[in-house]
Amino acid sequence: MPMNDSKKDDNYSFLHEAQKLGKAAGDQVMVIDDLDKAVADISRITVPEAVESIKNTKEDDLPTQVLSIYCHDCRAIVPAQIKTIRRKPRKVCGACGSVKISAGKEAALKKFYHLED
Ligand SMILES: [Zn+2]
Repeated sequence: MPMNDSKKDDNYSFLHEAQKLGKAAGDQVMVIDDLDKAVADISRITVPEAVESIKNTKEDDLPTQVLSIYCHDCRAIVPAQIKTIRRKPRKVCGACGSVKISAGKEAALKKFYHLED
């Protein structure tokens, strides 16, 4: 198909409707009345109450999570052990020493690997 035919046919165009009408050019694409307000709206990703709460809470009182280890050989949640493998420290299974482990929150591991209490 020659190029001239596709130019005549308006149904086949990669341009947006606004571009075809010649309206999507230059400053008309995005009009921002108050740039400072727009930037402030975009940057506000936290809730002010949450920020205050974290500021006023002592570090010891903040919630913590304990990382648990699931051993794929023992098929259980096991204590972790550090073992040097190829001169690099690695977390291994504390029961059998296997490197086939997954780390995560205990509740999440129990749910994902269908462990019963
Ligand atoms: Zn193990």
